[in-house]
Amino acid sequence: MREPVSTKTALVTGGAGFLGSHLCDRLLERGTRVVCLDNFATGRAENVEHLAGHPWFELMEADLTEPFTLDTPVDTVFHLASAASPPDYLSMPVETLEVGSLGTRNALAVAQEHGARLVLASTSEVYGDPLEHPQRETYWGNVNPVGPRSVYDEAKRYAESLTMAHHRAYGADVGIARIFNCYGPRMRPDDGRMVPTFVNQALEGRPLTVAGDGHQTRSLCYVDDTVRGLIALAESDATGPVNIGSDEELTVKSLALAVLNLTGARSRITFVDLPEDDPHYRRPDIRLAGDLLGWRPLLRLDEGLRRTIAYFLDQDVRVAGWVER
Ligand code: NAD
Repeated sequence: MREPVSTKTALVTGGAGFLGSHLCDRLLERGTRVVCLDNFATGRAENVEHLAGHPWFELMEADLTEPFTLDTPVDTVFHLASAASPPDYLSMPVETLEVGSLGTRNALAVAQEHGARLVLASTSEVYGDPLEHPQRETYWGNVNPVGPRSVYDEAKRYAESLTMAHHRAYGADVGIARIFNCYGPRMRPDDGRMVPTFVNQALEGRPLTVAGDGHQTRSLCYVDDTVRGLIALAESDATGPVNIGSDEELTVKSLALAVLNLTGARSRITFVDLPEDDPHYRRPDIRLAGDLLGWRPLLRLDEGLRRTIAYFLDQDVRVAGWVER
């Protein structure tokens, strides 16, 4: 039997990361060939090892901050390469600024060479500690340009600016997604983000460490919904920026309580220092994504958390202290 013909090819930078690996899966399911470029700075080979041998999947180990060429013609560049969790980018401050600047330049150059559309994975962090709530795309943000978190926030602000400059100066076909907190299977248990931290603390019977008084808010979007938003943006002609996230806002403490409830763990909650420049509020206005892309998140938080807990249980992180029920 002849192999079905794939008509499209996508380059996914950061494709071995949490979000990138799910994007590779979805693209392949939709019949798109995928070139996954990653240097494994924060990603893991095991996130894409199930794709090894797939006739349409190619893994390219490379550092995006170095210029590169692609033999395969590509139609779309999804530019996701960048450390994304605070402990990761705080431990790689210069690399984070460089992948946002040099990496974005190289991703744009490859897109230009191939006449491909580029989708930039930007972030809600461009809004900093927002003075407008919920955050609309028209809000310019409140970012400390010299604080520790600036290496990520300013890298993404620069990446957005460079992407728009290529669009205006060279007519580059681009779409900017401002992704709000996304969670799901394949996050590293130690990556420092709230969901894997709380889930693994609960499964191991350790106290859940809530920052500050836990009243700060976040809005969490399940990875499948985020990936659907990125693909919808790629398939549209919208330049954006467009917020991609859930508008279901909850406090960090209520998330910890939800994890305790869903795991049945008997752990306590303890309060630790709030990181410097930690945003107090985070909720996207997602009307633009609805209008331009027909997109909205579909999965409820409790179901997304159940799937994420099931993933970590599968990884066998469970030790004494977790009570099955
Ligand atoms: P992740 O750390 O799991 O994935 C990032 C990937 O980029 C990793 O595989 C890493 O090895 C790779 N990478 C980093 N520097 C590189 C370089 N110089 N060359 C090649 N590869 C490099 O993070 P994630 O959560 O999957 O985030 C993916 C993208 O989405 C990031 O750009 C992030 O800023 C953005 N984003 C994510 C979220 C979220 O909640 N997950 C929210 C907003 C924005």
